[in-house]
Amino acid sequence: MRIILLGAPGSGKGTQAARIQQKYNIPHISTGDIFRSNIQRQTEIGMEAKKYMDQGLLVPDELTLRIVESRLMEDDCQIGFMLDGFPRTTVQAEALDKRLNELGKSLNVVISLDVNDDTIIKRITGRQVCKSCGEVFNLYFKNPAEAGKCDKCGGELYTRADDTEETVAKRLKVYGEQTYPLIDFYSKKGNLVKINGEQEEEQVFYDITQTLNSII
Ligand SMILES: [Zn+2]
Repeated sequence: MRIILLGAPGSGKGTQAARIQQKYNIPHISTGDIFRSNIQRQTEIGMEAKKYMDQGLLVPDELTLRIVESRLMEDDCQIGFMLDGFPRTTVQAEALDKRLNELGKSLNVVISLDVNDDTIIKRITGRQVCKSCGEVFNLYFKNPAEAGKCDKCGGELYTRADDTEETVAKRLKVYGEQTYPLIDFYSKKGNLVKINGEQEEEQVFYDITQTLNSII
């Protein structure tokens, strides 16, 4: 099973990715993780990527492709994989297609978790975290019984500094600009399946499994 997972920050993508990995036992490949691991192991590619990241620059497509390709060649990916955070551009998507083609493989499905911007803004700006135990509450969806106090341990709740509407709006804008061409690309190829990410986590996962079960 070779799949791609697309979803904005706050779409619930991380949670769903973990559940997919657990249920279907396929490696979850996040470009962020591979970069970190290559930098940690001080590989040649890792050191090259680090030069860009240290300057706050985006890692060029060519380098990202090389790093993802080398990961896809590893043994555990022979049964399949779930890509997360890659491809980010249509250039990367085309290159991935080409590479898989050369290997006699293809993508099964591209899952897009669709959530309204308003919901995402509420999910993120409403978030309140317990200082003591890390339990997460939300002013719109999961209020604590007593304002500012953790239901579990009585600890003080706080809002993360970058969970502001301004930051979220900026992240959503960047995500949209990058991803719309990609959605269009996969939609034209007939690979795209949209999942309603507004639903409860359980229902979202159920819908995803319905799609994935149909391809195995
Ligand atoms: Zn707590």
